[in-house]
Formats: sequence, C-alpha cells, structure tokens
Amino acid sequence: MTSNFLNETKALACVHCGLCLSSCPTYLETGNENDSPRGRIYLMRAIQAGKLGLDARPVDHIDLCLGCRACETACPSGVQYGSLLEETREYIEKNHRRSIYQRVLRRWVIEKIFPFPWRMRIALFPVRLIRFLRLEKLLPKPAREIMGLVPSKISGTRLEFKRAAKGEIKGDVGFIEGCVMQVMFGDTNNSSANLLQRDGWNVVTPKDQGCCGALYAHSGQMEKARDCARKNIAAFEGMPLKAIIINAAGCGSTLVEYGHLLKDDPDWVDRAEEFSAKVKDLVTWLDESNISSVNSSEKVTYHDACHLCHAQGISLKPRQLVKARAGDNFIELDESDLCCGSAGSYNLTEPSMAKKLQSRKVRNIIESSANVVVTTNPGCLLQIQEGLEKEKASHIRAVHIADYLKD
Ligand code: SF4
Ligand code: SF4
Repeated sequence: MTSNFLNETKALACVHCGLCLSSCPTYLETGNENDSPRGRIYLMRAIQAGKLGLDARPVDHIDLCLGCRACETACPSGVQYGSLLEETREYIEKNHRRSIYQRVLRRWVIEKIFPFPWRMRIALFPVRLIRFLRLEKLLPKPAREIMGLVPSKISGTRLEFKRAAKGEIKGDVGFIEGCVMQVMFGDTNNSSANLLQRDGWNVVTPKDQGCCGALYAHSGQMEKARDCARKNIAAFEGMPLKAIIINAAGCGSTLVEYGHLLKDDPDWVDRAEEFSAKVKDLVTWLDESNISSVNSSEKVTYHDACHLCHAQGISLKPRQLVKARAGDNFIELDESDLCCGSAGSYNLTEPSMAKKLQSRKVRNIIESSANVVVTTNPGCLLQIQEGLEKEKASHIRAVHIADYLKD
C-alpha cells in the first residue's frame, strides 16, 4: 500500500551520484549502502511506494542515521536530506511499534525528562548521590555508561531577566537558555551573556521560554516540536530585540527552522519566520575585535558541531574567534566536521554506533596533540569529555567556545 508522507520532488533531487558517501559517518563505519544517504533515500521511497514494510530492518537503517546532515554539505544536487528524514521519522513514529526498551527510553526518559529542566534536575540527583557515595562500580554497565555522560561538574545557575550592556550600548538581544545548557552548563550561559554584555548588548532572557523542540523534531514527534516553537515565539514576541542568541548549535538549527516547522499553520507562520530571522548563533554575533590573545603555549583545536557547520553552514567564524585567542597555537583537527556520535539523544538510542564515532573523534583529537578542544554544542562537549576520560586523556580539556573566549 502506498503512503504519502515524503515530498517526492525533494526525494527525486537525489541523482544517486554517491558523492555524499564519504562524508556519511555511519557509511564510513559500516560500509553498508543502506547506512548511506543515498541508500536511505532509496529506503524512504520504497516505504512510500509500499514496496517495503515498516519491519525492523528498514527502520533500523533510518534509526542509525545521526541526522548530522553532512550529506547536505557534500551534495552537489542540493538534496534536502534533513527534511526527508524528518518526514520519514514522523511516519515511522505514527505507524511502527517499537520494542518495549525503545518505547520506555524514547517516550519516558528522553521525551519526558530532557525537555523539562526541573525534571532533569530531579533526575540528576541520584547521579550525584551515587557519585558522592562512590557506588558507580555496583551499577550495571549500561547504567554506568549513561552516567559517564553526565559531567562531574554541573553548574545549574539561571540568568536574570535582564543584564545591562557594558560600555557603549548597541541595543537589546534575547537569550535562549536551553534545557541541557541551563541545567548542566549554567556557567557557560553566564560566559555567553558576559561576552554579549562586553560587546555592548543588553541581554534579555524571558523566563517563559521552553525547550526548542529539537529532541521532538529529531525523533519524529512533529506536533510536540510545533508546540515548543509556538511557546518560544510567544515568549520573545513584542520586545525590541535586534537578535535572539543561542549558544547550543543543536537548538539553533531547530530555532532557525521554525518558519518551516509552522509553514502549514496560518496563525503562526509569519510570526515563526520573524522569530527565526532573528535567531543567531552566539559565534556569528560576537565581535572578534574584542577578543584578546592569550600568552600560552597550549595547542588549541576546534570540533565542528554538525548542527552548526552542516545544518547552518557556519564553520569559518568560530575558527576566526578561536584563532583570535589562540593565535599560532591553533591547529586544525582531522575530520573536524565528522559527527562525534552525540547527535541529540543518539548516544542513548544507538549506543554502539555512538561509541564508534566517539572513539574515532577522540583518536583524532589525541593525534592532533591539542591540549584544548573547543566546540559549540553541549551534546558534543559531553560526548567528547566522556571519550577523553575513557581513553585516559583527561589532560585534554573540552570546552565550550564561550568559556574559551571569556577573560
Ligand atoms: S544525496 Fe546528493 S550527493 Fe548523495 S547520492 Fe544523492 S545526489 Fe548524490
Ligand atoms: S544525516 Fe549524517 S548519518 Fe544521516 S545519512 Fe546524512 S551524513 Fe549519513
């Protein structure tokens, strides 16, 4: 039986040239065409045409996709793979019954905890207690591995509603606190706001903002993602903001697509486009001339978060900022734009592939001889930090760019 979930015109833009294959992390690891962008587009079209059912095998190949969108950067035909993936995942979630383990993990752990900061704070309490009592060794391996992703230092401070600019005032910018960012990386939000204030911006952080919706969008729960978008648009509307700043690449790539997300909602589409047009990743908004160089012999490298470099096409500006601070001590990282395996909640839903990509990333970092690896997304930070600890390379620091650039 045919279905009609996929935009066939967008799917037909793929001319099967295979130029994306060498950029696809899952294809690089498995060598299986079904784990490549081209192969997955075949699978999507075959499901749409009714030639393939939603039994485990095709779904497994779609699930194994990181949504990193490296294939979009590589594709000369402009295939909008991310959009095809979202449509397919929405169809799968509505029509495929997952195993009990996957249902509990996706519906109860990921969707019911991560997008709610207060629930995440409660969920982190037992982790802190187990660490305090040094009981990690008594836990089963999967639980230990999930705990390994929680940073040893958690800073959960919130920003005030308004912080005043320093020096000459340029205007107001809004600030998105993020869910994981405000619970685990409060200090990084603080550094980000400080950098904006130093550049002359009043920083406004509305308290009724919420999850950006990325976790829902990436797992095919599009209606929930749309609800998140409406809440955030309403929270920032009516304020004279020159920009809305986000310091988490994964959230940013969803926030800039609210117009697309709400394209079929006449009451919200214009408001969504206005909101998205104002969304800027922190790195694109910072004034490079205010960054002072450091007098240090530390070698510094940069890992491209997929949702910054592939989904938003931003790779030059963060390097310029890091180089402004590190000078000649900046070194390029091999495969810097290859996914680290974090990919939202991928390291929980697809732990085996996530670990392979984590090891590959960490190997490249160690071989670069860097002392510091800078990035722009909390998921990448957690994944790389854990990987460095596993490889006994904790002398290498993984830091968010806002923390690296702060004075
Ligand atoms: S997605 Fe693009 S690069 Fe990949 S096979 Fe299709 S047309 Fe070629
Ligand atoms: S999104 Fe990433 S993992 Fe998925 S097909 Fe494209 S390159 Fe491969």
